[in-house]
Amino acid sequence: MARILIVDDSRTSRKMLRTILEENGHEIIDEAVNGQEGVQKFQALRPDVVTLDITMPVVDGVEALKMIKALDADSKVVMVTAAGQKNKMIDCIKAGANEFLTKPFDKDEIVNVVAKLATE
Ligand SMILES: [Mg+2]
Repeated sequence: MARILIVDDSRTSRKMLRTILEENGHEIIDEAVNGQEGVQKFQALRPDVVTLDITMPVVDGVEALKMIKALDADSKVVMVTAAGQKNKMIDCIKAGANEFLTKPFDKDEIVNVVAKLATE
């Protein structure tokens, strides 16, 4: 079981992630709707795992990833990407992203990725 922070500007995506992860025994400790709020909540709550959407207003996922890794290099961050974001994915790998999930979501992929990070 992991304590998870979901950061995504899409209400639908947040709800899908929450539902799937809670069904698999994880605790969603909070949600954030952009990168700035995500970094603030990361700092306050220190979740085991963060899911971080790439495309968000205010502060995007790539910048939020860099800020989270600066706060805690051992943080476990799963980037949520969509098709056609290869260049941003490369930026994320350079910034220390631990795993990737691709929209549209695949339930088994979500469960496997989070389980892997939670046991590292
Ligand atoms: Mg988005």
